Amino acid sequence: MPSKFKCVRCGREYEPGSVFRCDCGGLLEVVHEPVKWDRHVVDSRLCPMGAPYSSGVWRYKELIHPGLPARLIVTRPEGNTNVYHRSAVSEYVGVGRLTMKHEGENPTGSFKDRGMTVAVSEALRQGAKTVACASTGNTSASMAAYAAQADLKGIVFIPEGEIAYGKLSQALAYGSKVVQVPGSFDDAMRIVQEASKELGLYLLNSINPWRIEGQKTIIFELLHQRGWEPPDWIIVPAGNLGNTSAFGKALAELVELGWIEKVPRIASIQAEGAAPFYKLWKGGGEELESLHPETVATAIKIGNPVSWEKAIRVIRETDGVVEVVSDAEIMEAKAVVDGSGVGCEPASAASVAGARKLAAAGVIKPDEDVVCVLTGNLLKDPDATVGYHTGKLKGIQARRPNAPTRLDTTSMSASLRRLLRE
Ligand SMILES: *Cc1c(COP(=O)(O)O)cnc(C)c1O
Repeated sequence: MPSKFKCVRCGREYEPGSVFRCDCGGLLEVVHEPVKWDRHVVDSRLCPMGAPYSSGVWRYKELIHPGLPARLIVTRPEGNTNVYHRSAVSEYVGVGRLTMKHEGENPTGSFKDRGMTVAVSEALRQGAKTVACASTGNTSASMAAYAAQADLKGIVFIPEGEIAYGKLSQALAYGSKVVQVPGSFDDAMRIVQEASKELGLYLLNSINPWRIEGQKTIIFELLHQRGWEPPDWIIVPAGNLGNTSAFGKALAELVELGWIEKVPRIASIQAEGAAPFYKLWKGGGEELESLHPETVATAIKIGNPVSWEKAIRVIRETDGVVEVVSDAEIMEAKAVVDGSGVGCEPASAASVAGARKLAAAGVIKPDEDVVCVLTGNLLKDPDATVGYHTGKLKGIQARRPNAPTRLDTTSMSASLRRLLRE
């Protein structure tokens, strides 16, 4: 294997296996043998129509999993997600050059597919029979689909009653075993780690460093689409902090290759009720303190994010920031993104809400070039969307509601005219 695991804390190296923490307790990351790689290879791979190189992940294989035999690759293929500019969103945020990279356009509707294709392929390489994850929803949807494709057994642990219906329905439909855990995501995460150890399940949460390798391609593909011109800012919702970690690693590798010079600043946005990473960054501490999470954005409802140690380095090294937004701000930003025709799930809108807050505070300048990452698809959480528009979302005063109206059959045209004038 030309790739190794290396502890981010003490630097000890391991052969890649199914243990994802160093003996010292530190997180492991994948390190590859240094590559000298010419950009024309990835440029030429933008043309092929067939897998694996048509995939927005495997196009960058040499930077993701160079030693993996191509026959083991399990791909849909993923990525190739679009970048949008919408003046309504731009005006709302207060930044002219604002674009959104829509990771909700991945095969199962979230960026999780980018990491999953790599980690499931690695599971096959290791001869795994059963794969497992804890999930706020999207990881389970993605894992269930890739496990089905690879003929692996899948088992997911979800916090009972806390995951959005679009995601639960995917996990069930794709045929993984779904185990509801009384408690939060953090409890499910603890249980799946114990169960994996005890039963020999291959763990597919983002503590698995191969997931991070795949998620790096959000950045590779974004910069590729921009002709390798970095923006000033990349803004991302932050839950378990896999993306924040992956983005920093990807940028460092592109600098190393000489494909970019300037490193964009990364802004990680947390929900106010689930913001342990914000507290760590704000307080300048060295240890994250976990808390009980509460937010409408279930995908980032995490009180004990597993990748905090990698992520805090990334924020410090990219001159980044961490910000918090309220549930009301998240849902309002979502209404603006949805109303622009782009659409996203609640957690995704945290990036746009965060951009607006940072622009209002003068941290982001109005003339800067800003990319918000939309992490998941609008259809993932119909309850939150309908709840917002019908004024039934607990604790949120909807400022841009669009409730359905009942047809008045006695004076039909008059009532429809009134509706269209609104
Ligand atoms: C998983 C997920 C997140 C959180 O990403 P992390 O990498 O865990 O910080 C945000 N948004 C959506 C839609 C997700 O599915």
